[in-house]
Amino acid sequence: MNHIAVIGSGTMGRGIAYTAALAGFQVTLQDISEQALENAREYIENLLNRSAAKGYIQAEQEAEAKKNLSYTTQLQEAVSETDLVIEAALEIMELKINIFKQLDELAPSHAILATNTSTMSPTEIAAATDRPEQCIAMHFFNPVHRMKLIEIIRGLDTSDTTVEVVKQVAEKLGKVSVEVNEFPGFVTSRMNCLIGNEAMNMLMEGVASAEDIDKALKYGLNHPMGPLELADLVGLDSRLRNMEYLYQQLGEKYRPSPLLVKYVKAGRLGKKSGRGFYQY
Ligand code: NAD
Repeated sequence: MNHIAVIGSGTMGRGIAYTAALAGFQVTLQDISEQALENAREYIENLLNRSAAKGYIQAEQEAEAKKNLSYTTQLQEAVSETDLVIEAALEIMELKINIFKQLDELAPSHAILATNTSTMSPTEIAAATDRPEQCIAMHFFNPVHRMKLIEIIRGLDTSDTTVEVVKQVAEKLGKVSVEVNEFPGFVTSRMNCLIGNEAMNMLMEGVASAEDIDKALKYGLNHPMGPLELADLVGLDSRLRNMEYLYQQLGEKYRPSPLLVKYVKAGRLGKKSGRGFYQY
C-alpha cells in the first residue's frame, strides 16, 4: 500500500491528503474544479508550514510530505497506479455511484475503493462496480489531522481482506478505527446530526442565543465544541445533505431544521462561506 488517490479536494479531501502525505503515502489529490484544487494546495502548504513552525512536525517531515503530494483534475491520472482510492466528493448518491463506475474502469484491479460518506450505503455505492468485495466506507472526521477516529463500514460483499487492509491504513495514518455495521448515518453522524438539529431548532424557537447554546453544551455537557460551531465547521450545505438522507432513510426524527434549510438557501454555509451561525 504505497499510493492513495483522494477524489474531491474540499474540506475533507484536503485533510485526508495532508494526513496521508505526512504518514508517508504517495498521494494524488483530484478534483474537477481547478479552483478547489488550488485552494486545497494552499491550505495543505499553510498547514504544513504552521505545523513545522510550531514544532508539531520536523522540517524533514514537512519537505517529505510536500514531495509525496501531487494534484490533478484528471481522474485517470489520479488513479491509474493507485492502491487505494478515498472518495470525498459531495454527499450525493448519484454522484458517488457515477464516480465509483469510473474508478472501477480506471483504477488497477487490485485497488481498494473507499468512500468517505458520512451517512450513505457502501453497498449501494459498491454495486456500481465489478469489485464490490474491494469497496468499503472509511468515514473520517473534520479536521482530519486533529480527529482520531475513522469509522469503517463494510458493504454486503466487502471482503475480510479489504477490512483488514483498511484498518492497517487507518493505523498507519495514526487513527483509531471502529467497525460499524451498515446503517444510515453509522454511529457518529446519526448521533451528531440529531444533536445539531436540536440545537438549530432551539435557536429558531428562541430558547437561547447561538453562543449560549454552544456554551451550555461545552461547559455543561463537556462537548469539546458547541453543536452550532461544529455545524459551521462541517459546512451547512454538507450537513443539510446528511439530514436529508437520514430523513429519507430513517424518518421524521431527522427532518432538517427549517433554520438550516433557510441558511443554506441564503448561502450561509458556515466557515467556508464566511457566515453561518457565526460570522468569520
Ligand atoms: P466539500 O463541498 O467541502 O468538497 C467537495 C469537493 O468535491 C469540492 O471541491 C468539489 O469540487 C468536488 N467534487 C464534486 N464533484 C466531483 C467529482 N465528480 N469528482 C471530483 N471532485 C468532485 O465537501 P466535504 O465537506 O469535504 O464532504 C465530502 C464528503 O465527505 C461528503 O461525502 C461528506 O458527507 C463527507 N464528510 C464530510 C465531513 C465534514 O465535516 N465536512 C465529515 C465527514 C465526512
